[in-house]
Formats: sequence, structure tokens, C-alpha cells
Amino acid sequence: MEFIFELQSSSNISYQRSSTTTSPDRYIDPKCLDFREALSFLNEGTKVDSAYYVPLLQKCIDTYSASEAQIIHTHIIKTGAHEDTYLMTFLLNVYSKCGVMDYAHGVFDKLSVKNVVTRTALIAGYVRNSQPELAIEVFNELLEAGAYPTNYTLAAVLSACSSLYNIKMGKQIHGYIIKYQLESDISIGNSICSLYSKCNCFDYAVKSFGRIPEKNVISWTTMISACGDNGEAQKGLDIFVEMLSENCEPNEFTVTSILSLCCVLQALEFGKQVHSMSIKLGCLSNPPVKNSIMYLYLRSGKTDEAQKMFNAMETVSLVTWNSMIAGYAQMTDIEKDVVTAQHTGTEALNIFLKLSRSSMKPDFFTFSSILTVCSSLVASTQGEQIHAQAIKTGFLSDIVVGSALVNMYNKCGDIEGATKAFVEMPTRTVISWTSMITGYAQHGRPQQALQLFEDMTLAGERPNKITFVGVFSACSHAGLVDEAMRYFKMMKKQYKIKPVMEHFACLIDMFVRLGRLQDAFDFIKKMNFEPNEFIWSILIAGCRSHGNLELGFYAAEHLLELKPKDSETYVLLLNMYLSAARWKDVSKVRRMMKDEKLGKLKDWSSISMKDKVRSFKPDDRSDTHSPEMYALLNDLLDKAKNLGYVSQKSLEMADEEEKGKTFSSVVHHSEKLAVAYGLLKVPSGASIRVLKSISMCRDCHNLIKHISALTGREIIIRDSKRLHQFNNGHCSCGDFGSLL
Ligand SMILES: [Zn+2]
Ligand SMILES: [Zn+2]
Repeated sequence: MEFIFELQSSSNISYQRSSTTTSPDRYIDPKCLDFREALSFLNEGTKVDSAYYVPLLQKCIDTYSASEAQIIHTHIIKTGAHEDTYLMTFLLNVYSKCGVMDYAHGVFDKLSVKNVVTRTALIAGYVRNSQPELAIEVFNELLEAGAYPTNYTLAAVLSACSSLYNIKMGKQIHGYIIKYQLESDISIGNSICSLYSKCNCFDYAVKSFGRIPEKNVISWTTMISACGDNGEAQKGLDIFVEMLSENCEPNEFTVTSILSLCCVLQALEFGKQVHSMSIKLGCLSNPPVKNSIMYLYLRSGKTDEAQKMFNAMETVSLVTWNSMIAGYAQMTDIEKDVVTAQHTGTEALNIFLKLSRSSMKPDFFTFSSILTVCSSLVASTQGEQIHAQAIKTGFLSDIVVGSALVNMYNKCGDIEGATKAFVEMPTRTVISWTSMITGYAQHGRPQQALQLFEDMTLAGERPNKITFVGVFSACSHAGLVDEAMRYFKMMKKQYKIKPVMEHFACLIDMFVRLGRLQDAFDFIKKMNFEPNEFIWSILIAGCRSHGNLELGFYAAEHLLELKPKDSETYVLLLNMYLSAARWKDVSKVRRMMKDEKLGKLKDWSSISMKDKVRSFKPDDRSDTHSPEMYALLNDLLDKAKNLGYVSQKSLEMADEEEKGKTFSSVVHHSEKLAVAYGLLKVPSGASIRVLKSISMCRDCHNLIKHISALTGREIIIRDSKRLHQFNNGHCSCGDFGSLL
């Protein structure tokens, strides 16, 4: 009797021998095979041809069942079929595909003949099961045994090198490949290309791609995603065009890679063409392709298109929900205009709410995206609700979610919440430590920040350059010059981190806060690079605060030489020259602003309530509660005056030319209105949290300090430069918060 087994394509070893020896009476259909029943046909000791086992083992792969494979394995030993190397190699593959490499290795150990095929099967198994070190170990044994690796062996070892970023070994293998002239093999060429790309050797990747004689769709796709991984998105699009001109048909992986490049480049038109191409290719039904197109529309601001696709989906997977939420979250983050940012942020929150009501459970990716939205909107109430939900769904232990929570509380100005979330994290990464250290520094708690830094190094975590920005800003807050210098040395000597501009900015800020302006200037001279806009701005703000205008004018000259691109910088200068009545300089700055084509500052503030976000423009009277808000503000203004508040003239930031005025003292900047709204609407006892599009001015900063004392409320304002936490007449920035 003769059987021919048709093995399913998931197996790469096909068994084509036919058998004429002892065999059961029934024809075995592998698809409806009950292997226990099949095995029961055989009595112990019966000689069985190994072909009998293959369909049974194939079924174990299909059902991912290692335990069933073990039962067959036992049977194989009983019948003596384990002498067949071919069958045992098949079994090794079954174990490896079921993810139990220990068993696979056990089979290998007992083999009487260990040839290149069995060793390659073991190597491929380790690569598949993310144990590249062991794959390389087996490869070395193979070489020691004097065997010659095959193309399959080499391709598998190359991908082990990629996963380990082991470029040294990868190059050795590449040398071997060149020596034995195996480079023309497509799968080897593809693996070499992907190895170099992963190890950041993009030029080598391009070269080895060029040497593949007959490129297939995998080669092209590997190269396109290599371009993406190495920040060469435009080149990726060019290669895609080349691929099409060579008549190579893209598959769904090519399409998703190219769409993600379109996202990076914001190449919507190109993306649209890929969209229609994927319809022709018939891969639009592929969920990753659909998600990528939707995500591209979102990232390009085509929210209607994205929504249309989203609504048209019959079944919405979690990945789709996540791309919608992440898409809106990204938009919220990059939006310059607070109102639009609020709109997209609110949209993201709405989608998250819909997801929570569906049967689907959010995962760590959902949580981290939506928490970013809460951070951007300073929406701590929503953030707290999401925190509770993360606890319920068990995602709190996830490092990414934990870090996102710490970050959210810090950005919302809730240092207690951040501390709690930080303490709750079962394991911490350098990101979460850094986020917490920076949080303490920003909230004016330098001692806690420095203590945490010590804890971090004790815990054996290596600080990075951002950690040191937090450390220096803590020192700057507390005026700890000696400590700062000690940490500065430690950073350079012990951790071999080169100081960057942000580090110098913190240290200069420290001298400025202490009124040691000359020391600040001396420090600048010692730096090994040119000070940037930010550093000069700190000096100017400091010179104004300490009344040293001469040094301020000197710094301003330097700042103007840099031709700044930020409108706020010019307003800072204008305010300084105006307060000193230097009209010539005022008109010079105005002229420069025109030359640089800089628009006026757009002053917006928003406050997020439990269920909605309200935003205000300067002098806004659109809210139904406006009369009460203005009455409250006037009342507080009078009371503040009794406490010594003097309103300062400040430059109008919004409609300056329309009204034909230069500056005014009556304008109500947006954060004043948002705070008044908060005082009326936020339950008493709760903090008021406001997000502002540009830096606060000195006048608002001063008044809000008084308001916090008069009302006993904590008021938190996050402006474009930093966080201000007002409590009992004081601000956490210590009045050195780069105010306009
Ligand atoms: Zn103001
Ligand atoms: Zn402040």
C-alpha cells in the first residue's frame, strides 16, 4: 500500500518518500486525525515506517501542541523509529515551531548523526524563538565539527547577528559568503542587507542591496524599511518607485512600510497613490494596510478621510482603535495652536471613551497614547480616570504605562500623583527615574530631585544626559553652586557624557537666579560652543529681574545677531527696550520681526474640566459666564492692589496693530480669564490647571501669585516654556520662569 502525504506549507521540510513496509489498514487523513486513535493502531514493538508519523507531527505544528508531539515522540522511541535521522529532524522542527527549544535540543542531543541539516534546523529554531546567542553557539559547534554551512545556515546566522546587533560576527560571515561566492543567493543577500541596516551601517546596506542580482519583493521591502529605520525616508520612496519600474509587485509588507515613510515625510499625495494601488493589488482588506492608510490621513490632518475609513470598518481591531487614538495624540502634540490641539485631543479622548465602552480591552499602547493626550491638555481629571482603568485592566505593571502616568501627572502639575505612580511602578527605567527627577525640579522641590538622583545611582541605574538636565535644574532652583559643579564633573568624568547646551543653560540659570550675573557671563565664555537664543534669553530675563540693564542690552545685541526665529524672543526684547524707553531699539526689533516674517504671538489659554475643555483668547467675552468672570477679576485686582500689587505695562500680544496701540495695562491676557473661570467652576479645594500657548508675562505672573494667596487655591499654569505652580503667593519657578 502506498501513501502520499500532502504536507501543509507551514513546514519547510517536506516528506516525499512513499512507503511499502508495515502500515495500518486505514487511509489516514491528516486533517481529521485523532492521533491517539491513530497511535492505538500500533502495538508496541511493531515496526513502523517513519512516514506514518509525519502527518501526525504536522498536525502538532498546526495546532501548536508540544504536549501531543511529546506523546508521539514517546511512541517513536518505543517503535524504534527514532533511528531515522530524517524523522528526528522533523520532530526537532516541530518542537522548535511549538516554541519549546529545550525539547528540540534534547532531540538533537540524542541524534546518532549530527549533520549540517540537523544543526541548521536547530540554529533556525533558536533564531525563531528569539535566542540568537544559542543559535550562534550551535553555529560555532558546526564549524568546529568541520561541516560546511549551507545557504539556509548562513541566512539564519545572519539574522541571529542582526538580532544581537553583532556587526563584527556579521562581517565575518559576510566574508565567508564572499569567499564561497554565495552572495548571489537572494535570501542571503536579503539577510545581509537587513543586518547592515539594523546595525546602522546604512551605506553597506545600500551596497549589499545593489549586489543582489535578481531582487524579489522581500529584497525591495527590506531595503525600503531599512531606509525608514535609518532616517532616509525620501530614499525609501525613490526605491519604491524603482521597484515598480522593475515590475516587481509590492506585497502588503511593502505597502505598510511605504505608508509609514509617507507619514514621516507627510507625503499625503504619494500616500494617496499607494492607497489606490493597494485597492488594485487587493491588499486593502489587509488590516495593517488599512490601518496605515488611516493613520497617514490622520497624521496629515485629513481627519474626515480617516474617520470615514474608521466608520466603514465592519470589525474594528484593537490595532485600529490604537492607530486612531495614537494619530490624534500625535496631532495634539505637534499642534502649535492650542485650540486645534484641544480639538484633536478631545477627539482622542472621545475615541478612547468609545473603545472603553466596546467589548475590546485597551492595551499598554492605548494607555500610553491616551495619557500623552492628557499630558498635552493638562487634563488631570481624565488622566486620573485612565489611571484607575489601567489598575483595573492590570496594565499598571507595564513600564511604558507607568512612565506615561508619571509623565502625565508631572505635566499636569500634580507632583503628588506623579510620586504615587512612580512608587507604584514595579520596575523603573532610566526614563521614569529621569521624568520624576525633572518633575521634582520643575515643581520647585530641588532637594527631593537630588535625593532621587542619589537613589537612582544606588539602584544601579545609569543616568543619561536628560537626567543631568533635571539634576542641574534642581541645583539651579536651590542655588547649590558647589553641588552643581560636582555633578557637572561627575557627568563628564564618571559617566563620560559630553555637556550639551541644555546643561549650560541650567547652570547659567543658576548664576542668574543668585544674581551672580558676572559669573554667568564668565561661564558662557568658558563654554566650548556659541551660546544659543535660549541662553541669551535667560541672561536677558535675569538682567531685567536684577535691574542690570547694561548687561541686558549687551546680551540683547548678541541675541539679535543670531536672527532668532521665535516671536517670543522678540517680544522679550521689545518689552525690555520699552521699559527702558529705548525707542530706537524698539523700532529696530520691530523691523527685524517684519524681515523674519514673524507673526504676532497668539495668546490662548485653556482649562480642562471634568467633561469638557474651555479655551479663552485675550479679552474674551464669549462665555456665558463672562460678566461674572470679569467682576471676579476686578474684585481680585482691587484686593491685590491693597497687598502691594502694581499692574505693569506689558506689550499686547494679540491684536496690537489692529487697535493701534503699543502697550496697555488693561488687556486681559488669556490665562487671567481661564483662572477666573476655574475659580468659578472648579470645585473649591481642587487645583486649577491651565494650559497657555505662549510664555506668561510678568504682570500676569505677579497677579496670579496674589490670587493664589487671596483665594487659598493652588493654581497651575503650564506655559510654552515651563510649569508654574502657584501656592500661597509663591510660584515654583521662583520668579525666574522665562517670563515675557
Ligand atoms: Zn500676561
Ligand atoms: Zn512662575
